[in-house]
Amino acid sequence: MPYSVMIVDDSAVMRGFIRRVLTLSGFEVGECLEASNGEEALAGLEGHSVDVILTDINMPKMNGEELLRRLETDSRLRSVPTLVISTDATKARILKMLSLGAQGYMTKPFSPEALHEELERVLGERNA
Ligand SMILES: [Mg+2]
Repeated sequence: MPYSVMIVDDSAVMRGFIRRVLTLSGFEVGECLEASNGEEALAGLEGHSVDVILTDINMPKMNGEELLRRLETDSRLRSVPTLVISTDATKARILKMLSLGAQGYMTKPFSPEALHEELERVLGERNA
């Protein structure tokens, strides 16, 4: 079964890159939603259910931290695994995002293999 994915990043180039890397990594992608900030992501998720959310942190309007907070308060969205993809590799930031409910954290740049591995882990947790 292909996975449906929500990619949240303020860079359209990065969203396209993540989408391509998902496919290249052998990850079976079905529906692929995109949003350029947290607000758009929440709006897009209103009528859709996805299997995983990949989100940037630094975005205008609503950043990735606030998005994670909002997801946690939503009974339906709370259970959707989230993977943070950011250039910020500081330990404090990583721990913060994990404490807000993220299941995984990848720093940019990353290889298709690394993304695949992290997604397997994140989705495996959901099925465990
Ligand atoms: Mg950004």
